[in-house]
Amino acid sequence: MCRELSLTARDLVRRIASDAGQSYSEIARRVNQDMAKGKNLLSAVHEIARENGLDPGRYTLDPEKIAEEIRTILRKDYAQTLMISAVLAQMVESRGRDSLSPPAFFTFMEFLADATAAPKRREKRIGNVEEATTKIIELTTTLVSVICDWSRTGIVGVAESCPEPLRGLARVILRKTRLYQAGMWTCISCGKIVSIRETRALLCKECDARLPGPTTLKRTPPKRERHRTGYGRTVPGDTID
Ligand SMILES: [Zn+2]
Repeated sequence: MCRELSLTARDLVRRIASDAGQSYSEIARRVNQDMAKGKNLLSAVHEIARENGLDPGRYTLDPEKIAEEIRTILRKDYAQTLMISAVLAQMVESRGRDSLSPPAFFTFMEFLADATAAPKRREKRIGNVEEATTKIIELTTTLVSVICDWSRTGIVGVAESCPEPLRGLARVILRKTRLYQAGMWTCISCGKIVSIRETRALLCKECDARLPGPTTLKRTPPKRERHRTGYGRTVPGDTID
C-alpha cells in the first residue's frame, strides 16, 4: 500500500500519468493549466483520474505527512539545514528560472523556526545537500498548494480541507503572501515588516547593516524565533544563540 502514498505533487502526477498510460509532461501540463485557472491541485488530479476511469480516492496527499517529512529532513542535520536555507533564500530573491515562490519560502521559514528550536544533534555524515534541497522545495511547494486555497492571483485563503494542526501555519503563509503582494516583506531576521524595496538579501536595512562582510552570498540564516506559528513547538521571542 506504500505505493498509494505520495508526498509531493511531482510524485502524484508521475503516478497518475503512469496509471493512465500518459506521459508525465502531458499530465503535468494539464494540471498546471487547471491550477492557473484557480482549480486546486487535488481537484485537477481527481478530474484526470475520473476521465481515465481511475479511482480519484487513490490519488491523495496527506498534508500532515508532508509536514512530518519536512520536519524530519530539517532536524536530521543542522549543518545541512543551514545550507538548504541559504540556497532557498537565494532562490526566492532570484527573478530567474530557478526562483522559488514566496509562499513556498514562507512555508519553509515556519518549519525552519521550529527546527532551530530543536536540539542540535550533529551527525557525522553530511547527506546530499542538493538532493535534500530539491526534496524540501517539492515538499513545501506541495504543502502550500494543498493547505491553502488558490486563485489565478495566488493564495486567497486557508483550504477547508486543511487539517487543524496546520491551520495556524496556513494563516501565517496567507498573511505573509498578502503582504508580499502589497509590496511588503517580513525581515527574516527580526520579523519586522518593511517595504520590499528597502530589503537587502531578505533582511531589513537595520539587520543588514548589522552583518559584517559582503551582502549577498554566504549569509547565515535567521538566528531568531519570530512568532508562534500555532502548530509546532515554536516559542516566541528570544534569540537562540
Ligand atoms: Zn530585520
